[in-house]
Amino acid sequence: MSSEHIETIAIREQMERTQYLEHSAPLYLTSSYVFEDAEDMRASFSEEKERNIYSRFSNPNTTEFAGKIAKMEGAETGYAFATGMSAVFSTLAALLNSGDHIVSARSVFGSTHSLFTKYFPKWNITHSYFNINEVDQIESLIKPETKVIFAESPTNPGVDILDLELLGKIASKHKLILIIDNCFATPYLQNPIQFGADLVIHSATKLIDGQGRVLGGVTVGKAELIREIYLFSRNTGPALSPFNAWILSKSLETLAVRLDRHCENAMKVAQFLEGEQQAQKVKYPFLKSHPQYEIAKKQMKLGGNIISFEIKGGIEAGRNFIDKVQLCSRSANLGDTRTIVTHPASTTHSKLSEEERLEVGITAGLVRISVGLEHVEDIIKDLHQALNS
Ligand SMILES: *Cc1c(COP(=O)(O)O)cnc(C)c1O
Repeated sequence: MSSEHIETIAIREQMERTQYLEHSAPLYLTSSYVFEDAEDMRASFSEEKERNIYSRFSNPNTTEFAGKIAKMEGAETGYAFATGMSAVFSTLAALLNSGDHIVSARSVFGSTHSLFTKYFPKWNITHSYFNINEVDQIESLIKPETKVIFAESPTNPGVDILDLELLGKIASKHKLILIIDNCFATPYLQNPIQFGADLVIHSATKLIDGQGRVLGGVTVGKAELIREIYLFSRNTGPALSPFNAWILSKSLETLAVRLDRHCENAMKVAQFLEGEQQAQKVKYPFLKSHPQYEIAKKQMKLGGNIISFEIKGGIEAGRNFIDKVQLCSRSANLGDTRTIVTHPASTTHSKLSEEERLEVGITAGLVRISVGLEHVEDIIKDLHQALNS
């Protein structure tokens, strides 16, 4: 019996079981697969048959994981990667040629920004950035060479929201490939394909694993595009390991219940921060005060687990706050069961000039919180004492 419900898909969408009829998914630690005879081998390599040949190409665990995400996102198919960044890189590298141009939101994950600014120019692939408050100008950035529109929503670390429906309309009008990095929302909170995205990328390292154990990534979307991405990846080798795929596939079974609590806790923490003297400009997508609240409500099921705010007193106050937390972790990861605090200006974005930081909305006092699954009273108590000491 098939279901449209993400909770059911995440649990019941599965690979075939073996003769042992395992209830839970078995783990296939094998680098290669054997053939019946010479004819089987020929047909498999010529791709007349769909079957596993070598785990750089496919493996039952990685196929199951990518298939689950594809179904949850309403996509035709998908391919799993070793990390979120290998998904971003391989997706773009497979689809773009020398001379092509990308239109992207300025506020993208740091390593994606490095791809656009440091590495793609080596292959004559260029980009133009638009700011969150300039979405009406996106069309003016599109050139004859433009092939892709790339964006994240919610963004990191600013927690801004981009109108996916608007991006979908622009992409379809100009026949561009719309790629959305959906990492902060997960397939449970937001499905960009519904708004016109052609491809959706996830870093599974974050909320999909949700327990800070393994790295992983995945790209899902239109079959013809995934085919190109698969052929590129089969030759270049960014495949997800079967073990990590097995972990991630198990994690998906609890994604919805974990996310419900993450979001409930985050909403309470955001409301608490709004009442704190030391915290200004608290940004959480489902707070009425969020500049893109209406858009968030339109495209997201719940507000996610990431909050940003500005601490009074700039860099020093930011560093002091990070030093003072006792329960919350000081870490660069996010989407863990453990609440994590980061101060981007002195850590993840310290290599940028102040001007560059301000361009992506990172002020000296900006703090990002990835709200975890501890009891919310304990999280609030810790933040309160750190803000006021
Ligand atoms: C973490 C992250 C990535 C990269 O994922 P890795 O698994 O660390 O390679 C890409 N995009 C976003 C939005 C992220 O948060």
